[in-house]
Amino acid sequence: MARINDHYQKLSAGYLFPEIARRVQAFSQENAEADLIKLGIGDVTRPLPPAVIEAFQDGVAEMASVETFRGYGPEQGHLFLRELIAANDYASRGVAIDPDEIFVSDGAKCDCGNIQEIFSVDCRVAVADPVYPVYIDTNVMAGRTGPSDDRGCYENILYMPCTEENGFQPELPDAAVDLVYLCSPNNPTGTVATREQLAAWVAYAKDCGATILYDAAYEAYISDPGLPRSIYEIDGARDVAIEFRSFSKTAGFTGTRCAFIVVPRELTGKNSAGEDVSIHELWSRRHSTKFNGVSYPVQRAAAGVYTEEGKAQVLSLIEFYMENARIIREGLQAAGYSVHGGIHSPYSWLRVPGNATSWEFFDLLLDSTHVVGTPGSGFGPSGEGYFRLSAFGERERIQEAITRIQAKLPAS
Ligand SMILES: *Cc1c(COP(=O)(O)O)cnc(C)c1O
Repeated sequence: MARINDHYQKLSAGYLFPEIARRVQAFSQENAEADLIKLGIGDVTRPLPPAVIEAFQDGVAEMASVETFRGYGPEQGHLFLRELIAANDYASRGVAIDPDEIFVSDGAKCDCGNIQEIFSVDCRVAVADPVYPVYIDTNVMAGRTGPSDDRGCYENILYMPCTEENGFQPELPDAAVDLVYLCSPNNPTGTVATREQLAAWVAYAKDCGATILYDAAYEAYISDPGLPRSIYEIDGARDVAIEFRSFSKTAGFTGTRCAFIVVPRELTGKNSAGEDVSIHELWSRRHSTKFNGVSYPVQRAAAGVYTEEGKAQVLSLIEFYMENARIIREGLQAAGYSVHGGIHSPYSWLRVPGNATSWEFFDLLLDSTHVVGTPGSGFGPSGEGYFRLSAFGERERIQEAITRIQAKLPAS
């Protein structure tokens, strides 16, 4: 029999969302009449904007006739979409990104997970704690870590605790690392990095030769024009950073699938002979070998995001979720909770009252209010004692959830 990749067996059994599902199902079985409100999973709930649907349908119609039919497109993505991205997401904010530096993909999850392949298995990795689990798990699979300890920390990963004390922003490591994963606005804490904080990361990366892997999946939720939406708004970032973006949380593409990654031409790594190697060329090789491009109608749909109507519709989609986030944040604060995030992010990050653990609070919230959220400890050991509530949902349900929490589970 074939030997398996032993590193997979180091993974703590994909435990967070299956465990939530298990507890919710057990609760429902005993409480068939309970009206559950799910504010747990990070998935959008509103339909695609009309301008996107129109472009999507146009793309589908083109596939129906021999004159306009498309087969394989460029692996990197159609130029029409990469040009729109460069102009609207970057040039409009004073950032020069060439369409050739953009790789369109079927998701930021895949991109964040795949990027580590082009780096040495010996690279030392730093991640914020708590954080989106994909960064760590894919490095475990690749063999960059030892086993995990009883707190769930893998050997050889540098965890950067994000706590109330540091405003949930990772602090620069004392030591040199090779790869740093940053996520802003952060999932799960909902907090956002300032220009100064990102500038410090860029300086650190230059200093120790690290590459920053910057996940900006939620950049569209940043409403303060003074906050950076791209790491390339920081001088020098082109030399040290790769950026991940997605249409998922922005324009409702979680079920449609389209995202992109920016790999600047300046970015280099070193080979074992100590020579500089273009990261752009390595990624291009990897992407075109293992990926055959995003579906043509989906790329047309993504282009619909950048029409005048599309931009306005996406903005009102974000405003809708952000109003939900405001209702959650202010409603919980009124009930005595300490709440972070929820201003430039759809996620509110609340301190679990008393000395309960994140999972104990999960059960308490479910039992007393029938509201489902996400235990902070599922995102890393420093998430213990916190809880994530998502603003993705219908307005009345969010209001109802907050009313129940205020009535049945105030924090004081
Ligand atoms: C949702 C999410 C993504 C994944 O987006 P897809 O493009 O749908 O794969 C990436 N990063 C973070 C932090 C996310 O929360």
